[in-house]
Amino acid sequence: MSTLNKRAEIIAIGDELTCGHRLDTNSRWISQQLCDLGVTIAFHTTVGDDIDDNLNVLQRAVSRAEIVICTGGLGPTADDLTRQAVSQMAGVPLVFDPETLEHIQSIFGRHGRKMPEQNNVQAYFPEGAKIIPNPEGTAPGFDLSVAAADEQVSRIWALPGVPYEMKEMWNQSVAPAISNFSGTNQVICHHVLHCFGGGESQIESMLPDLMRRDRIPRVGITASSATISLRVTAEADTREDCLIQMQPTLLTIRECLGDLVFGENGQTLQEVVLSQLQQRSLKLSVVDFCFGGSVAYLLDQAEGSDHRLAGSLQMPAEYAEIWLGRASTEGWLAESAERVRDQFESEIGVAVGPIYERSVEAGESSSVFDLVICHERQSALFTFNFGGHSKIRLARSQKQILNQIRLCLKDV
Ligand code: AMP
Ligand code: MG
Repeated sequence: MSTLNKRAEIIAIGDELTCGHRLDTNSRWISQQLCDLGVTIAFHTTVGDDIDDNLNVLQRAVSRAEIVICTGGLGPTADDLTRQAVSQMAGVPLVFDPETLEHIQSIFGRHGRKMPEQNNVQAYFPEGAKIIPNPEGTAPGFDLSVAAADEQVSRIWALPGVPYEMKEMWNQSVAPAISNFSGTNQVICHHVLHCFGGGESQIESMLPDLMRRDRIPRVGITASSATISLRVTAEADTREDCLIQMQPTLLTIRECLGDLVFGENGQTLQEVVLSQLQQRSLKLSVVDFCFGGSVAYLLDQAEGSDHRLAGSLQMPAEYAEIWLGRASTEGWLAESAERVRDQFESEIGVAVGPIYERSVEAGESSSVFDLVICHERQSALFTFNFGGHSKIRLARSQKQILNQIRLCLKDV
């Protein structure tokens, strides 16, 4: 990362955030926007509605970041303290802006209401601040330059907490101002490759030394419900240059990991399976004796599902005998896959069997389930472990099934 870039700190303000009642989605969104503007995000800070804590956090922010973005605390109530905190920190008084008051009164007027007295406070801003209009609500934001240490100037942008108001103001006023202020024409781009079928450390060990912190482009690895994602980050003058910078690294990852890589930039396994089906003009049907029809649901609800899921059935394994009209002895799951395929007139049939115990060494057993995928007259049976933490094992099983369908479709 270039150190010439201005660094940013994002401050999310509100007791509802520190208490955990509400998730701070603003900081995440703002980070993504700053990244697109080529600004390096150095810190995220969350602070409650307390004036001393706000002062403390603001002082520290201007001492270590040139761009400080605050959200929250601009409402009319006693717990909204951002105006006071910024003015105290900058050592300037709050001054009244009559035009803002008119704007707030007009918003109340539009709804046939009289503005309550306490909304007056929203028309006060730290002296010297530029007001950021809020077309959607009563809380305008502001933008104030503050002299920090070493004659360095930091700029604070204070925005309301309500996400849709904040985003509108960001797009209209803040993004262009930051673009000018940051003085960088650099762009930061990310490209993410998603993998399934290996653990985080196993995948890392299959790659050459890509995760070095000083490497250009930078590579990071994250795991979420058994999906491992490799994020490549490049910084250059243009988007095209970023893509050129990333290309060899992306190629290396794909070469080293082969079939473990299933998609990129947010793609899910179900989306990949659907696009494979589409490319091959195939349809698929599923009968599920184990996961409540959830794999079919994922396929049905995915972006671009395009009726590639011809049909799905879900039933307890005990009903299989009635449905098949025969005892569920040897080969019943393969027969189920064929039956569902034929019933919905699709080319591919998938049957997911119930969980059962399979004995492993030394009298131990492990929970497993079977999967049969059939296409034309061929069918293949796979057995997967159903273990691990209860929070992720359902998601992982669904992914195991989708991933196996993906691998089978490659050869169709
Ligand atoms: P405020 O501007 O502090 O009055 O916040 C108004 C509302 O916006 C809060 O009640 C929250 O519901 C929401 N909000 C505030 N901060 C955030 C944040 N960082 N992320 C998501 N929502 C927020
Ligand atoms: Mg608040």
